[in-house]
Amino acid sequence: MSANAKTVANPHVPVQDEASYAAYVEDFRRAAHQAVDWAANYLMSARQYPVVSQNQPGDLIDALPPSAPDAAQPYDEILRDFQKTIMPAVTHWNHPRFFAYFATSSPAPSILAEMLSATLNTNGLHWKTSPAVAELEKVTLAWLRQWVGLPENWFGIIYDTASVSSLHAIAAAREMVDPEAHTRGTRGDLVLYASDQSHSSIDKAAITLGIGQANIRKIPSDSNFRLIPTELEKAIKQDIAAGKRPFCLVATVGTTSSTSIDPVSAMADIAERYNVWLHVDTAYAGPAAILPECRYLMDGVDRAHSLVLNPHKWMFVTVDLSVLYTSRPDILRQAFSLVPEYLRTAEHPRAINLMDYGVPLGRRFRPLKLWFVMRYFGREGIQRMLRAHIQWAQEFAAMVERDSRFERVAPAPFSVVCFRYKGSDDDNRRLVERVNESGKAYISHTVLNGKVVLRMAIGNIGTTREDVQAAWELIQQAAPANV
Ligand code: PLP
Repeated sequence: MSANAKTVANPHVPVQDEASYAAYVEDFRRAAHQAVDWAANYLMSARQYPVVSQNQPGDLIDALPPSAPDAAQPYDEILRDFQKTIMPAVTHWNHPRFFAYFATSSPAPSILAEMLSATLNTNGLHWKTSPAVAELEKVTLAWLRQWVGLPENWFGIIYDTASVSSLHAIAAAREMVDPEAHTRGTRGDLVLYASDQSHSSIDKAAITLGIGQANIRKIPSDSNFRLIPTELEKAIKQDIAAGKRPFCLVATVGTTSSTSIDPVSAMADIAERYNVWLHVDTAYAGPAAILPECRYLMDGVDRAHSLVLNPHKWMFVTVDLSVLYTSRPDILRQAFSLVPEYLRTAEHPRAINLMDYGVPLGRRFRPLKLWFVMRYFGREGIQRMLRAHIQWAQEFAAMVERDSRFERVAPAPFSVVCFRYKGSDDDNRRLVERVNESGKAYISHTVLNGKVVLRMAIGNIGTTREDVQAAWELIQQAAPANV
């Protein structure tokens, strides 16, 4: 600590007496009003920023002091630096022309709930440390379960990301098939199956759980990027013949690259035949099941053991909030319940301890933002937004089809369109760069059938039909005139 810090009274330290605490809270009140005004102005004007940060790598690090201050600094100065120094390093997911990855934004009710949740800072270690966390999680996940049509008796739990939700599902799968692994560790004979289109989080989960990358089978997908069930069964039979133990199948409904839909019912048949766990990754597409016309995406899911769905992707909740549902909470609990003496509490049939169902002990008050969002928009409001995004994706796909320089490369059942300029991979890469460097829109790419493909993902709450049209015009202008 510097001499400066010892000798100068710190006007922000609230612990000295009640008056200083009150001054500290009043200082917050004033700055928070300012911050809320800033936030509302930002939401109104996000489209005025370049979508992608124009910073070079390291710019922000160079712009900030190498060590933290000794002396207190006023909110005004911190907020000024936030705008001057931090904001240029921000890529604006709130920009209505953010069409990359799975586009998401900051819905206002979710921002509000985040502020209240941070204010309470209540930590749901177990029921008693925050009944609100445990019980609002239970209530909102029951509401959501009804909205997407999952079985009434499925248990839901919130984690931060789909990667972590799937990690827990795969741990439960291991617990079901090889319960001894809990104490002795894995023997290297468990095998997991997912399509060659599945998300990398599945591989990471298997690596983390000691399954080993060599025991992940990537099952080929068909021309519409859906896992081929006969290939799956063939691989399972080969593994069994080789003395391996199949333990988990992962179906993806809404794959990351093309939003394709694996045949869940056929995979459920196979899972039942070989007594393995079936996990369904609907991280992005799951919320679409709120629409009656998209409910088909849950076909066969009632026969799965678990499902992940991310309200922070396409259900208008701020990052992070991922939900894992399971028909076998008993096995999930068996995999993770480990209660040291200092966390023991009196048992009560209605007091749920969420720490028993996963790795994290501390638990943010995430259900509050789900509760705000579900109530503020209502099912009808969310349906309207989902339908608009799906409709505009269809319109975008039609525009692509009308330009002979481009081709569609995958069905577009949701709000993502995969297409390519009919030139080389380099031409397509350059096209993405040109669009993104313009600062006027942001799209991303993937590889399908060995070729670089462009992805247009609609999901931002501020996006309009005109934004989609403008993005297409930008892409057309950035493409060479002749193939
Ligand atoms: N599963 C699918 C199908 C995804 O598309 C993604 C991310 O895009 C994930 C899982 C991982 O999501 P998260 O970032 O919440 O871990």
